[in-house]
Amino acid sequence: MMLRSDLAQVPLYAVEPADVPVDLSDNTSMWGPAPSALAAAQSMPAGGSLTRYPELYSASVKQAVARYLGVDPEMVVVGNGSDGVIDAAIRAVAAPGERLAYMAPTFGMIPVFARVNGLVPVAVPLLPSLALDVPALLAAEARVTFVCSPNNPTGHALARQDIEAVIDGAAGMVIVDEAYAEFAGTSVVELVRRSPRLLVTRTLSKAFGLAGLRVGYGIAQPELVRQIEKSRGPYAVTAASERAAVAALDGDVPWMRQQVQLAVEARQWLVDALRDRGLEPLPSAANFVLVPVADAESVALAMLAHGVSVRAFSRLPQLTPALVASAGAALRITVGPMNMQQAALDALDAVRS
Ligand code: PMP
Repeated sequence: MMLRSDLAQVPLYAVEPADVPVDLSDNTSMWGPAPSALAAAQSMPAGGSLTRYPELYSASVKQAVARYLGVDPEMVVVGNGSDGVIDAAIRAVAAPGERLAYMAPTFGMIPVFARVNGLVPVAVPLLPSLALDVPALLAAEARVTFVCSPNNPTGHALARQDIEAVIDGAAGMVIVDEAYAEFAGTSVVELVRRSPRLLVTRTLSKAFGLAGLRVGYGIAQPELVRQIEKSRGPYAVTAASERAAVAALDGDVPWMRQQVQLAVEARQWLVDALRDRGLEPLPSAANFVLVPVADAESVALAMLAHGVSVRAFSRLPQLTPALVASAGAALRITVGPMNMQQAALDALDAVRS
């Protein structure tokens, strides 16, 4: 057989965007794209630029990220979304057959990236307090250890000392996924200077509202960055995306911070409204809220009929009492402007009544 047999158990990503008026299913920005990025993407210079290849490793984006975060450009690796950075990073340090340990539940692509790269994924459940099980993560003695803060789909931020304990004790590379860091206001990027095993990944897909561009990046020491760039390969980011990403990072940070403020206010409003309904959303530091609801799959399907798309989970580890009560089922609702959140609540009320 020509095809790799171990990929038979790897599913294609099957989350179809719903064609509905209010799509709160994928944690992207409901407040629109970063304006300078939009202008830059719409005004590609005429002539040669589209006939030629883009920058090899997105040097201009590396410099813009370096200015944004106050790190050296040599400490930045850019990718086709942070997906692209995580995938290349796994391949950069781990050989087929080695282990990738990850906290569970987390971003669903992590075990997929492990398998696609021939690694054995090892899920390590969070504690009932939602804290990292540091000894269990370290006991996996994995070549790659993945943690995510704020975490998708729970939304909660991890304790800094637990992340540090993982970095200090891990056998191999530690990926800290900070796709939602702007909404939390905390980050461990500065730990990269003293930790050669640490890779912090970030993205323009969330707070900057630019998921369509597919630009993400990682922060690590230069030696690890170069190794990830080798496994990633050249020309991974398009010229149009590079241009827009630089415009966003240089021109739209104050705008982004305003959007984050709106999202944080909307998040509190949504949490309060869910609690008013007797529900128990998990504490969120991100731009979405996970709320345990029994039979979440059928609730989400019924909400679709009311023009609202949210993401349903049916088999989450039963960590909190509310997740026990819902048998591990929950809805993940992206925060958005008030009219969208009201539409989501109206749909939920209609379905539950
Ligand atoms: N990490 C986490 C935790 C995510 O939720 C996502 C997007 N759903 C990603 C990484 C990937 O984001 P992107 O590839 O758009 O940067």
